[in-house]
Amino acid sequence: MVLQTDYLIVGGGASGLAFADTLATEAENVEVTVIDRRQAAGGHWLSAYPFVRLHTPSAYYGVNSLALGEDRIDRVGENAGYYERATGDEVCRHFAEAASQLTRTGRVRVLTRHEYLGRGSKGEQVRDLDTGEIHDISVRRRLVDARYLEGSIPATHTAPFDVAAGARVVPVNDLPAASPTASSYVILGSGKTAADACIWLLDNDVEPDRIRWVRPRDAWFYDRRHFQPLEQVGAIMEGVSLDAEAGAGAANVGDLFEQLEASGRLVRIDQSCPATMFRGTMLSSVELDALRQIKDVVRLGRVRRVEADRIVLERGGTSTSPETLHVDCTALGLTDAPATRIFEPGRIVLQQVRHLSPCFNAALVAFVEAHRDDDEEKNRLCRPNPYPSSIEDWPRMVCRTWKTEGRWLSEPDLSGWVADSRLNLLQALPDHAAEPSVQAAIKRYLTHVTTAVERLAKLDRSHSNRNH
Ligand SMILES: Cc1cc2nc3c(=O)[nH]c(=O)nc-3n(C[C@H](O)[C@H](O)[C@H](O)COP(=O)(O)OP(=O)(O)OC[C@H]3O[C@@H](n4cnc5c(N)ncnc54)[C@H](O)[C@@H]3O)c2cc1C
Repeated sequence: MVLQTDYLIVGGGASGLAFADTLATEAENVEVTVIDRRQAAGGHWLSAYPFVRLHTPSAYYGVNSLALGEDRIDRVGENAGYYERATGDEVCRHFAEAASQLTRTGRVRVLTRHEYLGRGSKGEQVRDLDTGEIHDISVRRRLVDARYLEGSIPATHTAPFDVAAGARVVPVNDLPAASPTASSYVILGSGKTAADACIWLLDNDVEPDRIRWVRPRDAWFYDRRHFQPLEQVGAIMEGVSLDAEAGAGAANVGDLFEQLEASGRLVRIDQSCPATMFRGTMLSSVELDALRQIKDVVRLGRVRRVEADRIVLERGGTSTSPETLHVDCTALGLTDAPATRIFEPGRIVLQQVRHLSPCFNAALVAFVEAHRDDDEEKNRLCRPNPYPSSIEDWPRMVCRTWKTEGRWLSEPDLSGWVADSRLNLLQALPDHAAEPSVQAAIKRYLTHVTTAVERLAKLDRSHSNRNH
């Protein structure tokens, strides 16, 4: 049997669904097939750790045509004063509803438990994982690769260190179940998942001195204050203006990060330790204060081996015990796959365009696909902008966003779509532009952005050609 479709989207996670949702809205009479090897739509959220939440507000996450959450402001806890952030289950329910809504259009098919195998002689080959049958799918327009940035997550990655007999090591997904029988805890990993694991323990009344944190690198985080949409959108504009001010004046990357920290745009847990990791994640000040209570931090590089009474690391070792629970939070998370052209003949490779906005970007690419004919023009409007990994990636990431956004300004239909999209974190800015604090932020941004683009481009060139 040869199935036919206009678009075959490989990957039914946030990117694939956000693309399908906007394409189905914007393009007339297209037939779309989304396939995913998982049991349902939703991507990695289906196997996330039980206490995961979005680190950004729900207000601008998910698919464009369907709200996620109710734009509530949290009153208590780490997120007090800020817009609600969906739990993993809520994100999964959103994507399940998005998949049903797409199916109800009659123009979109969502095939779960189907794996893409590659191109065969009669079309694209897809295996039905329940029956083992291989189907050929003839694609009339494009194959959309929505798994190019598929990350490595705790549930699916293999621990990059050895575990000796007698040592207790669990993936972060198992922390709640394993926790009651542990005397103390060692959190392995530097990123947001490790921070979430520490906060979960502290929230569950584990004293900070029972937690040791093995951090191969120290990380920078955004202050969540600067990512609040809607009524608080002025704070987003303020954050962007601080980026422009720091970018315009930075002599080098070290100097740039000093300025970003001094302005409150970026934070790190230990201000006495150099931080080199930047993954674009964020913390609230309450979370930051909580994490700063953990004083037992091991900085001896990556873990090589966990034994019953010793942890062996790249640059030394530290004691442990068989009663200690070691929690593996070392999965990479976001992938740092290199940039590749988004639009190719017969193919779209979904990637970031505006930095750190995966759902917005997938929807944006769908809008451009529906409303432009020429691939050169499409690529001009959608330039790939890889996820960051280290502080050296910051100049390229921010500069590329500003340059690309500048191109959208002379495209009225595209600017109009961006202005109306709920996935655009700045959507409410026009409603608040008259407020003095917002005016001050816009003025600061406009004063510095041109110099910042030039300066950041130079800092990027002096770093490397890795992502060009
Ligand atoms: C823990 C965590 C929290 C995050 N929180 C936020 C946040 O708060 N805000 C934010 O903006 N971003 C966040 N992100 C980043 C990003 O939004 C999410 O990772 C997003 O869900 C990525 O979606 P995706 O569709 O690109 O990838 P995935 O969710 O990984 O989906 C890719 C899909 O492709 C499928 N697939 C791969 N190969 C094949 C094949 N051969 N055949 C069939 N199917 C295949 C996989 O099964 C998978 O379902 C977070 C990331 C992580 C890891």
